[in-house]
Amino acid sequence: MSEICAICGLPKELCVCETIAKESQKIIVKIEKKKFGKTYTIITGIDDKEINMKDLSKKLKKEFACGGTAKENKIELQGDHKKKVKSFLVKMGFATEAIEVK
Ligand SMILES: [Zn+2]
Repeated sequence: MSEICAICGLPKELCVCETIAKESQKIIVKIEKKKFGKTYTIITGIDDKEINMKDLSKKLKKEFACGGTAKENKIELQGDHKKKVKSFLVKMGFATEAIEVK
């Protein structure tokens, strides 16, 4: 007997729930202004169960030479890197259509 997926009820080998989850992943890149007029680039929507957020934020910080933090499924980068974040994420293997820059 094969395992049954709890979401769709199909045997695991026929189940596409995980694929759908990946494709429906929606990454949002936006700018937030915080106190003292500081600008942050916020990246949300990345599934922290699939992606090592600490590692990704480290790479982003290195790429943009800025400070930043990773909390659960949210990355905050100091400064405005909106224009460059998307192409960097695509280079990292994320789907272009999954990334929305606000
Ligand atoms: Zn399923």
